[in-house]
Amino acid sequence: MADEQTIILGGAECDYDPLTRLARIYCANCSEGNAVEVWLGDDGVPEYAGFVCEKCGFFNAPEG
Ligand SMILES: [Zn+2]
Repeated sequence: MADEQTIILGGAECDYDPLTRLARIYCANCSEGNAVEVWLGDDGVPEYAGFVCEKCGFFNAPEG
C-alpha cells in the first residue's frame, strides 16, 4: 500500500492506487466507496468518466 496516493476529486480527497489506476470514490447518493478507474491528465488533473454505484445503482457524473 506504500504506492497509494491521494487525489482530489470534486473537492474531496480520494485514495488512489497508481498501479491499478483505481480511486475510491464515494457515491453522492449513499456514500458507498466505489473503485473507479481514474486517469491523470497532462496537467496532473484527475479525470474519470463517471460511474454507477455498485451498491445503489446511482450514476455519479464526473465533476468539473
Ligand atoms: Zn450509491
